[in-house]
Amino acid sequence: MPTTLLIDLDDTLFDERQYVDSGFRFIAGNMAYLFDLSAGDVYDHMQKLLAREGRGQIFDHTLEAFGIEPKPEIVAGLVRRYRTHAPSLGFFPGVREALDELKATYKLALVTNGHVAMQARKVAALAAENWFEVVVFCDKLGHPKPAPEGPLAACKLLGVKPRNALMVGDNPETDGGAARAAGMGYLRINTARFAATASDAPSVATFADVPAYLRGL
Ligand SMILES: [Mg+2]
Repeated sequence: MPTTLLIDLDDTLFDERQYVDSGFRFIAGNMAYLFDLSAGDVYDHMQKLLAREGRGQIFDHTLEAFGIEPKPEIVAGLVRRYRTHAPSLGFFPGVREALDELKATYKLALVTNGHVAMQARKVAALAAENWFEVVVFCDKLGHPKPAPEGPLAACKLLGVKPRNALMVGDNPETDGGAARAAGMGYLRINTARFAATASDAPSVATFADVPAYLRGL
């Protein structure tokens, strides 16, 4: 029986697309101001590129589409502003109630990959410090999941043994891999993004189902 839950952030507690949408809206406003464009048109174009090409060079290609040369210093500035904008975010349905319930029984740590300034703003936007004793930014350690350093650092900060911790997250490769490497269990949250990734890990449909799953252990 675990005493401690190490919980992933993006696509486990909230829909990461919310952050992308919020960032696109912010950057569209920036581009509109800098280059005298329509923020709505720029935003729509970025969403179209995301759907068509996926992530990567959306800002470069959007500038090009509006006839602006995507100079590296301009793109770098936009990326920095995207990562440091104050996002407007909300949890998936039922997450708040589930965290309230889990907090009464378990030690909770948030263990997240990603650009540190960006992840810190997500944590602040969700007021996650209300539920988590410890927040570990794996990239700050230089060892993103599936490396075990993040989960192990969380255990150390909480004073618990890895075997008494359970990693909870949507990505079987990073979250599941880190749990395995750190010698702890893993519970998969089956959000759509990694639905095609095969895993024999126990799973629940959404984070809201975690309390019932743990009561059944
Ligand atoms: Mg995730």
